Amino acid sequence: GVRVRFAPSPTGFLHLGGLRTALYNFLFAKKHRGTFILRMEDTDQSRLVPGAADSIEDMLDWAGIPPDESPRKGGDFGPYQQSQKLDDYRQAAETLVSTGNAYYCFCSPQRLDLLKKEALRSRQNPRYDNRCRHLHPDQVAERLGSGEPHVIRFRLQEGVEPFEDMVFGWNKHDVAAFEGDPVIIKADGFPTYHLANVVDDHHMQISHVLRGSEWLISTCKHLLMYRAFGWKPPMFAHLPLLLNKDGSKLSKRQGDIFIEHFAKTGSLPEAVLDLITNCGSGFTDNRPGRELNELISDFDASRLMTHSATLDLEKLPEFNRIHLLQRVNNPEKCELLVKDLQDLIRQTYGTQIHEAGVLESEYIMRILHLRKGHITCLQDLVTPGYTYLWVRPAVPREQLENICSESQAIATLAMEMIKKHSKELTTEGLNMELKELARKMKVVQYSLVMKALRLALSGLQQGPSVAEMMVSLGPMEICHRLQRVLK
Ligand code: GLU
Repeated sequence: GVRVRFAPSPTGFLHLGGLRTALYNFLFAKKHRGTFILRMEDTDQSRLVPGAADSIEDMLDWAGIPPDESPRKGGDFGPYQQSQKLDDYRQAAETLVSTGNAYYCFCSPQRLDLLKKEALRSRQNPRYDNRCRHLHPDQVAERLGSGEPHVIRFRLQEGVEPFEDMVFGWNKHDVAAFEGDPVIIKADGFPTYHLANVVDDHHMQISHVLRGSEWLISTCKHLLMYRAFGWKPPMFAHLPLLLNKDGSKLSKRQGDIFIEHFAKTGSLPEAVLDLITNCGSGFTDNRPGRELNELISDFDASRLMTHSATLDLEKLPEFNRIHLLQRVNNPEKCELLVKDLQDLIRQTYGTQIHEAGVLESEYIMRILHLRKGHITCLQDLVTPGYTYLWVRPAVPREQLENICSESQAIATLAMEMIKKHSKELTTEGLNMELKELARKMKVVQYSLVMKALRLALSGLQQGPSVAEMMVSLGPMEICHRLQRVLK
């Protein structure tokens, strides 16, 4: 069956580029009823970022693309952290040594440095000169015996090993012509990326490797290793680069591309997935608003193109608006939104929240239905313009009287109007009634009547229409607020 993996190095937190790689793997797995694996490639101990591994797995869960096997979930092919399998890699490397495909290298860092400097001076690519390939076995045994520091290097076979990438087509690259024999076990006993990656992909029975195109060149090296081990390699699909709008490479230094940032600032995962699929290939339809199951059914790896994808972060609010609307319209999902909004209101306003039913689901649900399509995220609803919904305003009497000396009379009329109301409040209905109310006030301008009511209801000088506010607040709350401004 299909088994694919997302294999990040926890040297940083998950960003849009990583999420895209994970997503394509997830979609490919689900499409083919396969298994999606998360593997931590944490062999470069000096670059580990504390908390990154955990956070990466959290963010996959958040995005709705949880792995089937992972460091936290386990599985039949664990452990899923490379740092926990050092013996396996050493054994694998020793196997390669015993078959003549790898060798111990005792070259000192100083010698390697000198080689590099010489190469640079003669304007050549620095590469190891493979000197230790030719050590006599007795000599090797002796130096190992005396505990001399060493690495293990893979002996690159000359010649090309062409392979057909699912996206980029045929590739041939004569690695040995350009590079010295690569280190596979470092002096500290840790494997390098290339060895650990190949050993694990084989051991975990990975059928397809979908990864960023920056690894395309390395694949030729990996294939030489598969051949040396006598293993059947997986299929490869390299994903085109993800670029910023200005054509620059997506960089982890940009703070706003981290998935945690999106999660914390109210982006919905579906919208973030839209953002990264909307600009790329692999789908028949790139319209935003797609649910995960639609992405799965629409995804087709044979549609992946080689041209790079340009990310447009500015589209995110609009994508989020669309998905928020869809969630509100789905009763089950709406219930979850209600909970999230309740939390947000509590966090934002704390004890300012008025005692009446603003935290009741019914009230919140109504607000969500009224505002859907207009807001781009839940956070919008706790910005100053919406505070009146959750916090009863304190309206000083003088302020009200400054607008118009008839304010009290206006409030009284409005209250009567609402009390007479037996039907549901609608903006159209209320607009007509408010005009009628203003007519009764004769001397006062319509706009002043509205100003007074707006202030009484919300404490706002400007803002949404009075009818709109009334619909949001509902009859009970309207009456309560009007009552408060009366003597
Ligand atoms: N650890 C590598 C990375 O961080 C994995 C590359 C691969 O998928 O083979 O990108």
